[in-house]
Amino acid sequence: MIVVLKPNPNQAQLDNLVDWLKKHEITVHTSNGASQVLLGLVGDTSVLDIDLIKALDIVEDVKRIQEPYKAANRKFHPLDTVIDINGVKVGGGHFAMIAGPCSIETEEQIIEVARAVKAAGANLLRGGAFKPRTSPYSFQGLRGQGLKLLLEAKKDTGLPVVTEIMDLSQLDLFEDVDVIQVGARNMQNFELLKALGHVDKPVLLKRGLANTYQELLMSAEYIMSGGNEKVMLCERGIRSFETYTRNILDIGAVPVLHKLSHLPVIIDPSHATGMSWMVPTMALGAAAAGADGLIIEVHNDPAHAWCDGPQSLTPEAFAELAPKVKALRKLVVDNAQD
Ligand code: PEP
Ligand code: MN
Repeated sequence: MIVVLKPNPNQAQLDNLVDWLKKHEITVHTSNGASQVLLGLVGDTSVLDIDLIKALDIVEDVKRIQEPYKAANRKFHPLDTVIDINGVKVGGGHFAMIAGPCSIETEEQIIEVARAVKAAGANLLRGGAFKPRTSPYSFQGLRGQGLKLLLEAKKDTGLPVVTEIMDLSQLDLFEDVDVIQVGARNMQNFELLKALGHVDKPVLLKRGLANTYQELLMSAEYIMSGGNEKVMLCERGIRSFETYTRNILDIGAVPVLHKLSHLPVIIDPSHATGMSWMVPTMALGAAAAGADGLIIEVHNDPAHAWCDGPQSLTPEAFAELAPKVKALRKLVVDNAQD
């Protein structure tokens, strides 16, 4: 981190700053230029509050030369992280094909969809029990009862399950859930992230509607710094001026997040587009870009789905897509594995 001082800084204030930095175990290298003094800070600068330093009278500017995330940073962990979800590996060439309905509705529905997506090649089952809906009048999910039905489908098919937590108070219900999803709206629920840092389960962390890569990685850092390093990053579409699609799928997130981080990157083409006819194309685009997995909404009767029907694939459409994804990955991803 570089601190640029204003010309002729007050010496007492400068001494105070240097003492404070030393207390944080930061070594300060001073460089006296013709008109300005620069302080080069060496040490774990991630603990420093950059805005606090910027606000000092004697400081003109502060620049980070290293990212503020450590655990999620590829610089300190060059190899891809491979996450083992009860036998299903994700990352480092292993692909997560997560499929299932937006919401769990009935036992028949979740079991039928679970069997169909498994037969088509899915290796993880999704299904929402706690639903973050824009309107309080929309279906909010079957909650605890939904989780029970999801676990029935897990027992029936053997597929590990992915489902969303919305609040810390629900955590006890997630004991038999294999992957805890943190939805886009909760990406910066820091108390929830901190708590998940102490849970021994993989977390699928979705990018917020208007969050930067760095903010997503800082949220991953919240979980990882608590000790839980099993984090998968998920791009699910971001907000823009365009209203034709529900969101804009940022395929660039795949190469960028792979460059910045060692964590697996999953793409959600369903929420990104909002329209089922676009989902296969975007899923293939994500696979071609080197994503480590897909999370796709599949419903046995999309026209009557209780949530997100317009973006849900039928089991037949999913069965057509899954082998294409597999074939494409063989072509473009080194070391592609199921
Ligand atoms: C979901 O996966 O059903 C969901 C609500 O996703 P997001 O948080 O990305 O909107
Ligand atoms: Mn949904």
